[in-house]
Amino acid sequence: MKIKDFPEKIQPYLIPKPTGHVVYQCLGCAAEYDISRLLYTCPACGSVLMLTDLDFDRIKNTLPDTWHQIFDYRKMLNIPALQGIYQYHEFIGPIIPLDAVICLGEGHTPMVEANSHLQQLVGLRFYFKNEGQNPSASFKDRGMASALSYINFLVNSGQISSVLAVCASTGDTSASAALYAAYLQPGVKSAVLLPHKKVTPQQLAQPLGNGAMVFEIPGVFDDSMKVVEALSEQYNVALLNSKNAWRILGQESYSYEIAQDLDYDMNHTVMVVPIGNAGNITAIISGFLKFFEAGIIDRLPRIIGVQSTHANPVYKYYLEPDREKRSFVPVRVRPSVAQAAMIGNPVSMPRVIQLVEAYNEKAGEQAVFFAEVEEQAIMDWQLTANRNGHIACTQGGETLAGLVEAKKRGIVSKDDIVVLDATAHALKFAGFQEMYFENRFPPEFEITPKKALQNAPRLVRPKDLDTVPTAEKPLEGKDLERFVKRTTESIAKELGLSPRDL
Ligand SMILES: *Cc1c(COP(=O)(O)O)cnc(C)c1O
Ligand SMILES: [Zn+2]
Repeated sequence: MKIKDFPEKIQPYLIPKPTGHVVYQCLGCAAEYDISRLLYTCPACGSVLMLTDLDFDRIKNTLPDTWHQIFDYRKMLNIPALQGIYQYHEFIGPIIPLDAVICLGEGHTPMVEANSHLQQLVGLRFYFKNEGQNPSASFKDRGMASALSYINFLVNSGQISSVLAVCASTGDTSASAALYAAYLQPGVKSAVLLPHKKVTPQQLAQPLGNGAMVFEIPGVFDDSMKVVEALSEQYNVALLNSKNAWRILGQESYSYEIAQDLDYDMNHTVMVVPIGNAGNITAIISGFLKFFEAGIIDRLPRIIGVQSTHANPVYKYYLEPDREKRSFVPVRVRPSVAQAAMIGNPVSMPRVIQLVEAYNEKAGEQAVFFAEVEEQAIMDWQLTANRNGHIACTQGGETLAGLVEAKKRGIVSKDDIVVLDATAHALKFAGFQEMYFENRFPPEFEITPKKALQNAPRLVRPKDLDTVPTAEKPLEGKDLERFVKRTTESIAKELGLSPRDL
């Protein structure tokens, strides 16, 4: 739809211009730094940073109802830069001019309601938000669109000339980084560090296909992360891990979309997210807080962070009810089917600690909760979800298992509307499904397949057929007729079909 066809009162707001005063803010010492250079940690104290708009109050000059209309009408605009996460430009990166925005079709993923069978099984009303429908098939594209748009802005404005983007990854960050960097080549090149044999074949194929330099590093993700941190401290590279605050900013779009999709009514709503490096939960909390402060939503949803018992440092931290007595202890991870979240020392932990406190305070009660789930439950619920028409990855299974756990603990109830974050596409994790179906999990996973959830292809090869077609030697005439007849009969018998009345 064209600008002139929108209501006159809303027209001036539709195409945003660069505004705001965005700075890096240190979570440790509160120092502020200009965004004209790439920073990941505070040069003074080494803590992680967040991006803060010092001029955020200007957003409150626009009425909440007007904001609702701005976002809703923007959906109808055919302007590529406003079709992804920058539909919420004023909140995502107000200083980024639209001509620097990279949009590869990320965001605006569907919220798919579970069918009645699955809702009955769980005893709650819930949706999956299908983050696997992003361009590289995970939510990481939200943060990457933001980080690369910022880098593109620096390149366009002559502040930097060329960039080597690096990241460590449990598989999806590298897939996303390689994709967005490839779009900006030759100015931007990418190199990714992966824990050797700890990403799925599909995830490995992604950065290779997008032309990134791929390095496999012994150990688990936490080891790769240490190497990439050293690289970014000592050499001139752009770090694309969620330590990079621009990633967090882009991932906040997840919260804005949910608010918009629920018509900004957050009563009785609950968000369930898996936690790995804790960038995602940081962004989701931060996003809802900003919309709340701007009056765009008038309630904060409950948020439940879920971890596997095999990688549960955040869960363990919050087991201690007394805030003063809590202390963070990294864990050594064990093999997990929620492999994208298999992280023992999350870099965003300081952000989580600060934001959870702020969130609970603003909500006026405890509104952020943490749950842990068994590997068995993750697999069983993932497969159950997908047998009911979803495309949830193992981390999506983790959120459903977490919901079931949260219901047991009384954190959610029948009146709630729950949104589960299915963080990636099921296909990326097909190998775990295969291990389940073929009962091939190594003992460390502690998973015993349930017969009812297994599935396998059946080869149809009637014994009394002496010739079957091959690619080199197709059948013809009587042989082909007999092949079709006998094969059809076999399938019909296996399916228990009754003949059609002719
Ligand atoms: C990265 C990732 C996670 C974990 O998100 P964090 O921001 O690291 O906590 C969960 N699921 C998938 C599919 C991921 O790629
Ligand atoms: Zn500092």
